[in-house]
Amino acid sequence: MAFHGKPCDTCGHCVTLRYRIQSNSHAPWQLVCASCWKQIAPNNPDYRYGGTWKAKS
Ligand SMILES: [Zn+2]
Repeated sequence: MAFHGKPCDTCGHCVTLRYRIQSNSHAPWQLVCASCWKQIAPNNPDYRYGGTWKAKS
């Protein structure tokens, strides 16, 4: 089975589940993988979370 995913906006890895986040209220929305989200969210009081997006295979 081929792995179908979408690239993370931060690290570029293809994942099937991405988190929609803003690093601050003026930044563009990004779709990032779980590991990038975990790096960004705890260190950033201004970040905003916009839900999870699943890639359709
Ligand atoms: Zn990533």
